Amino acid sequence: MLTCYRCGSCCHEMVAMVPKDESSNLSPDFLANLEKSHGFDYVDEYIDNNSVLQGMRCQWLRDEPDGTTTCLVYEKRSSDCRNYPDPTITSFCRVGKLKMTGEL
Ligand code: SF4
Ligand code: SF4
Repeated sequence: MLTCYRCGSCCHEMVAMVPKDESSNLSPDFLANLEKSHGFDYVDEYIDNNSVLQGMRCQWLRDEPDGTTTCLVYEKRSSDCRNYPDPTITSFCRVGKLKMTGEL
């Protein structure tokens, strides 16, 4: 499992495919029902097909009081988000480590 420091940099400084702002279609209930009826792969595909390119702060990113961040749609985040950074290349996020230690 890749170590993420939850700095949030990749969610507001990089370009990612994220779900469109269709809260009714991305509500936890809606996605849970979709997963129950069609399976996780279908939900994954659904989100990918209903995503937009985003190069600004993601609407699903929440700042926490301790300085970390949380993805509000973590379990249903798109494959772009899920595959960053590439876990086949690194076991921890270098950007996050530098951010959280104040070196970046
Ligand atoms: S969907 Fe989640 S992981 Fe993806 S950019 Fe937004 S906050 Fe980050
Ligand atoms: S540590 Fe890396 S993967 Fe985790 S939120 Fe920060 S930039 Fe993104």
